[in-house]
Formats: sequence, structure tokens, C-alpha cells
Amino acid sequence: MCLRGKRGYLIAGCLGIAMLCAVVVVKTREAGGGMPIWGNTGRSTADRERGQEGNDGGGGGQAQNAGNVGVQGEDTGGMDSQDGDGTAYREDMSIKKVALTFDDGPHPRYTEQLLEGLRKRNVRVTFFVLGQSAEMYPDLIQEMAQDGHLIGNHTYSHIQLTRRNGQLFAEELQKTDAVIYEITGQHTEFVRPPYGAWDKRYEESLNMIQVLWNVDPLDWCCSDAGTVVSRVLEKTNENSIILLHDVYASSVEAALAIIDELSARGYEFVTVDEIILD
Ligand SMILES: [Zn+2]
Repeated sequence: MCLRGKRGYLIAGCLGIAMLCAVVVVKTREAGGGMPIWGNTGRSTADRERGQEGNDGGGGGQAQNAGNVGVQGEDTGGMDSQDGDGTAYREDMSIKKVALTFDDGPHPRYTEQLLEGLRKRNVRVTFFVLGQSAEMYPDLIQEMAQDGHLIGNHTYSHIQLTRRNGQLFAEELQKTDAVIYEITGQHTEFVRPPYGAWDKRYEESLNMIQVLWNVDPLDWCCSDAGTVVSRVLEKTNENSIILLHDVYASSVEAALAIIDELSARGYEFVTVDEIILD
């Protein structure tokens, strides 16, 4: 082999090493080498929507998968903006929203306990109430409204929508709405259909929006509050909608512990409208 050939190998070798270095530098930057680390980088839409077809077991019946999804997640984790003079800044990522929702109430004992705990913590939640229970305990519905909680519709008698009872299901929603309106002067705009069974046509015909959930600790089948708390803490992310039932002592105990722990982790509790209409 001649000298020219060796030099050719040498040059090719150096070029190869230089290119490799360049690739390493680019990859490092892509991987966030030049980016600040923020407390919260957000979660993907897929993360949030996964598991949304859960089951509302509050009525003790068989679960049915929901036909559609009530929450559209949005990944705002890496959002950059520019202000007037062109300086890049990041939106405040330190506050993460989360919504607690309670189905099947109101319950004369446990809902009252929950309302008291929420008042002490200055936290607002969403109640999907049954019309028949609201009728029996109007004072609790009034308390909810006065404290700034959002009151949603969970049908009158916990009826499950099937292929044959569409008319009856709609009537149950309207009847519940009338009960709530009578007590609070506000219509129920949001619906948590029992077992997640819903027909999108009601959104237009009844002017009601379906709200499902993406964190389900199955509190109705677990009387140990500690287990419910750890299931929720494990699955909660920014913009999670947590499903609980304010008709069990353990669920109320768990809910208050969840609030204390998630607050310490930088979460802010909002009513579901703030998450799904955001
Ligand atoms: Zn229910």
C-alpha cells in the first residue's frame, strides 16, 4: 500500500470521528442537555386518556365500557412563549390542576362530613348527584352550591342507559335537573352517566356534557381508606379526573387524605369544568 492510500485512510478516519462527535453533540442537545429542568413537564394526551373507559361501580352493578371519552387532554408540558420584546419564557408550570369527583350522593352522613373537610381545606370539587337523593337531602345540595362546588347530574335513580331505555334515561336526567334547579337556581350542565353508558346525542338535545374520569381507585369495593389513597396517588397526573363516591366512610376519609397529600405535591383542586373546558 502506498503512502497516498494510508493518508486517505487517515483523512477518512478523522472525518468519521469528527462526524461522530457532531452527532453526539446534537443528540445530547435533543435529549435536553441545553434545557432547564422544570418541576413538571406534563404528561401526554395518551397517558391521560388511557383508562378512561373505566367503570362506575357505585351502584354495585356490572360495569360497561364507555362509548366515548369525556376529556380531551392537552400536552402543555413544554409550551414556550415569547413576550413583547422577544424574550422567551415559560408558562407557570408549578400549578398542576386536578379534579375530585363524587358520585351517587348526597349521603346524609358522609356527604356532610366531606363538605366539612372540604370547607376546612378550602377545596372545591364536583358532585354528580342522584335526583332521588337530592330530593331527600336538599340542604346538602344547597350547602354544595353555597361552598362553590360544581353539581352535576347522575340520573334520578342510577339508571343505566341501554338500547331500549333512551327515553326513560333522558327523562331521568331532566327530572334530576329540575330537582337541582329548584334547590339552587342552577341547571346541571355536566353529566356522569352511571357505568359510563352515554349517547352523544343528549349533548345537543339536553344541552348536557358528559364527564368521565381517568383515575378510578374502585373505592366502592374497598373499605380500606389507605388503599384508596395509594391507588389514587399512584395514578394521578396533571389534569386527572378522580372518581370517588361520597356514600362510604372510607371514601370520605380517603378523599381528605388525598387532598392533603396532593396539595403538598403542588396540585390545585378545581371543578371538572376547569379541566374539560380548558
Ligand atoms: Zn354511580
